[in-house]
Amino acid sequence: MATIGINIATGSLQKEEMIVGIDLGTTNSLIAVIHPETLQPVALREHNATALVPSVIYFDEAGNVVVGEEAKKHLLTHPERTIFSAKRLMGKSYNDIKDNASFFSYQVIDDDTESLVKVRMDDQFYSPVELSSLILKELKKRAEHILKTPVNKAVITVPAYFNDAQRQATRDAGKLAGLDVLRIINEPTAASLAYGMGKSGTQNGPETIAVYDLGGGTFDISILQIENGVFEVLSTNGDTYLGGDDLDKAIITHWLQQLGWNQSDIKADPVLMQTIRLKAETAKKYLSQADVFEDKLGDHTIVLSKAEFETLIEPIIARTISCCEKAIKDAGLKVTQINTVVMVGGSTRVPYVKNCVRDFFEQPVNDAINPDEVVSLGAAIQADILAGKNTEMLLLDITPLSMGIETAGGLMDVLIPRNSKIPSRAGRQYTTQVDGQSSMRISVFQGERDLVKDNRKLAEFSLKNIPAMPAGLPKVEVGFMINADGILKVSAKELRSGVSQEVEVKPQYGLTDADVERMLMDSITHAQSDIALRALTEARTEAEQLLKTTEKFLQQHASSLTQEELLQTATAMQALQLSITMDDKNLIQQKHEELNDVSRPYAERIMDEAVAKAMKGKNV
Ligand code: ADP
Ligand code: MG
Repeated sequence: MATIGINIATGSLQKEEMIVGIDLGTTNSLIAVIHPETLQPVALREHNATALVPSVIYFDEAGNVVVGEEAKKHLLTHPERTIFSAKRLMGKSYNDIKDNASFFSYQVIDDDTESLVKVRMDDQFYSPVELSSLILKELKKRAEHILKTPVNKAVITVPAYFNDAQRQATRDAGKLAGLDVLRIINEPTAASLAYGMGKSGTQNGPETIAVYDLGGGTFDISILQIENGVFEVLSTNGDTYLGGDDLDKAIITHWLQQLGWNQSDIKADPVLMQTIRLKAETAKKYLSQADVFEDKLGDHTIVLSKAEFETLIEPIIARTISCCEKAIKDAGLKVTQINTVVMVGGSTRVPYVKNCVRDFFEQPVNDAINPDEVVSLGAAIQADILAGKNTEMLLLDITPLSMGIETAGGLMDVLIPRNSKIPSRAGRQYTTQVDGQSSMRISVFQGERDLVKDNRKLAEFSLKNIPAMPAGLPKVEVGFMINADGILKVSAKELRSGVSQEVEVKPQYGLTDADVERMLMDSITHAQSDIALRALTEARTEAEQLLKTTEKFLQQHASSLTQEELLQTATAMQALQLSITMDDKNLIQQKHEELNDVSRPYAERIMDEAVAKAMKGKNV
């Protein structure tokens, strides 16, 4: 199955529409795509710049929003106006985070402890979803600038331990940023994909992978199993307040001791604090490939050797290793059963970290791919699979066109929207239009247009032997089920009687990519006229319905109506009947209202009389 995109701005078809992969990180976020020529995943960057966009948002006093490197500069100078680590708040209530409230230098609102947290900035309140969407918007903007094409679709990664609420929040953030989030995938799964794991035909039996992810502020260890291209998370462990920042802090504490300075004195001087912090991070990174770091801090010299650094961070790394032990135990495995170890996160660049992990797992680690890009690269691979271009990988697919059934007035009622992942299932209830109707025709269509006549008919069948009932009473449940091979099964069941029927269709059958493309294109070019036509058709159907019920009412109750009421009703019915023949939705609705206005008073009166009659003789 293929996905074809349409550039809404220009109306042109974009066969090669890019679906981007996004690593929405706690510290850094980035966006990657499959390069159209090399077919390799690449993280997007402006010339020579880093691909990393710090996940930091600065709100200046004038109300401007700044995201990324620029915003990071304000972390220590304007801590109360600079949001970092918004990811930690996703899908959380104040209760969930109150133990770590001091971690956040900005104002996290504690109003009703069970509701989702909000962040206060001046007189504005921001949900974590909104904050994340600001980061995603920035990423989208950058990607569009670099790719010179609109970016509307994305795969976004989340930690494997994220629950449904956190995943949904991430999805919502994407939507808010104007992105159609095709899939949320686990960060360790993405990293494994980037290393080529899960390719079909490359493995015999299941493979067990440990993904060690040490980022800026969080540590995650995930044990995955891949079999036939399907990834399963066996266990996760970690520490959401342990990461590269702690390595920086260890260095800062060490230097302050060396200089004989007091922590609290320094904290009072944000500019000095910022300088020291930046130097500590620089030293840490430098020591990933050198043996000694030396620099000036004012008149003072600050030095740090690799050996000293390793002694400082030893207890921190030891904590990550005990998390690994627990994860392996939870997965019901022994260290020797892990086939592959994958390194993720900027902090795994530290040689000492690599060595500790290698020693613990008793095998060399996979670190060939840039550890701060690897998750986004895997997300780009997943995006490519969803676009239908990568057939080497076995993963689930999506439906290229919407599927639904015909309802009154020849309207398309979509049950499974386009781009739904398969397998997929949907159901909806319908009823009859005519008294005593004993069969119901179910016509199945595929396409994006509002009128079924403009879509493609896939199948048609009748649900027969519905017991005689007044119109509106039968409950016909129509079910759609698409299995992993793209086969659609349509079922219809009348719930009161249990009468049922089923057909099988292959939605794709006979449709070429060009057909799909044309159908999508049509739906865009006709969108405006379709909406108008749909409204007109709906108005007509409703008007016909009203005429029918009014007629029925008159047959039963004509004797209770005055001569004038009968005359007024007949006139209003005639006017409505006439309006149906014209293409004016507003006119139909107006005549509809008029008939209602005429009949309402006597309908109510007759109902009241009927009730009174029924009550007569009964003790109330
Ligand atoms: P996250 O996944 O939490 O967004 P990243 O994977 O981007 O975070 O990791 C960011 C961390 O990696 C920061 O603490 C940064 O200092 C650290 N880091 C980046 N490069 C290096 C390096 N060369 N050596 C040591 N640490 C590094
Ligand atoms: Mg990360």
